[in-house]
Amino acid sequence: MSALLPTYARSGLSFARGDGAFLVTEAGERYLDFASGVAVTALGHAHPHLIAALTEQANKVWHVSNLHHIPEQERLGERLCAATFADRVFFANSGAEAVECAIKAARRYHFKSGAPERYRLVTFDGAFHGRTLATIAAGGQAKHLEGFGPPVDGFDHVAGFDIEAVEAAVGEETAGILIEPIMGEGGMREVSWPFLQALRALCDEKGILLILDEVQTGVGRTGRFYAHEWAGITPDIMASAKGLGGGFPVGACLTTEAVGSAMTAGSHGSTFGGNPLAMAVGNAVLDVVLAPRFLEGVAQMGLRLKQRLAAIVDEHGDVVEQIRGQGLMVGMKCRIENQKLLAALRDRRLLTVQAGDNVVRLLPPLIVSEAEIDLACDTIDAACVALKSDARVRV
Ligand code: PLP
Repeated sequence: MSALLPTYARSGLSFARGDGAFLVTEAGERYLDFASGVAVTALGHAHPHLIAALTEQANKVWHVSNLHHIPEQERLGERLCAATFADRVFFANSGAEAVECAIKAARRYHFKSGAPERYRLVTFDGAFHGRTLATIAAGGQAKHLEGFGPPVDGFDHVAGFDIEAVEAAVGEETAGILIEPIMGEGGMREVSWPFLQALRALCDEKGILLILDEVQTGVGRTGRFYAHEWAGITPDIMASAKGLGGGFPVGACLTTEAVGSAMTAGSHGSTFGGNPLAMAVGNAVLDVVLAPRFLEGVAQMGLRLKQRLAAIVDEHGDVVEQIRGQGLMVGMKCRIENQKLLAALRDRRLLTVQAGDNVVRLLPPLIVSEAEIDLACDTIDAACVALKSDARVRV
């Protein structure tokens, strides 16, 4: 019996090391990693620049706490602000913490603006924002809430991406609207860019805040630094994590000056958040992701992946019925059970991630090569052929 809480359905695989887009078992079997630890290892495994940054910092100082000034944290904060809409950043250690900070900041903004009654957020059915008590309430999924007592109050869920339904849900107590630009866990459901623009306009009209959860979509994953750039809008608050640390736990809540200045000393905090090791790696990730032409490369690879997958839908529409997503955040909506496709791919040494709505997610590292995309697509093609012939044998 394992000493660990049985909270995860694990694959049974374990890996001894990784390089680039590959993970390698103790026995030397190489798996093409199109999961990236659920969109985390943005620069693949054992990226030399990240290793150098982490090692260099490890030789200096690991942790001092936020009782002190942390130069690497200031630097990463300034760089994130320079590259985005934001004026202020709070560093945390995970996506859920980044969203938690976003929720608190939204409430606090209205409190400080003389409207403490505005504490509720409009959120969307099928969303995923993390596993803390507040973020499971924000997500609103019964399977995540079950057994944990009354959900945290303050979230109004809307079905579908329907601007009239959102308008109807906004009331006197609404602080803002919280949404993922592409619902990752929820099945790679794309929120249309016009819908995001309409949400921005609605927030402006009602004097409420637009809060984006870019934990999965951020840091280049869609071919832009943050996905909302595709829509040509900016949020008031944004949660980021996953790829930001390239595999080292880093979360960040980015805000405008108006929102950020409401979070005064003592209003929020984290012992580990923004520690020197995490910040050194975060800065090193930005060195690569914000280098000229890197994001164009991600967008190009994303197009190639989608084109190859479109051919697979044409050929094997009875296994994969639709391709979703943007850049290197792609979902295959399955006609068969998604777990079956995922297992068939794993048997062929291609790692992917399941998502809601019967989707298999492809989240390759942002440094993936054309040859690796082709290898993944050849593997998917072979798995589809095998799954179909298995089905025929069973009939
Ligand atoms: N928000 C989104 C959109 C996510 O995809 C996730 C994780 O999958 C989270 C929040 C929670 O992040 P973490 O697991 O790092 O707490």
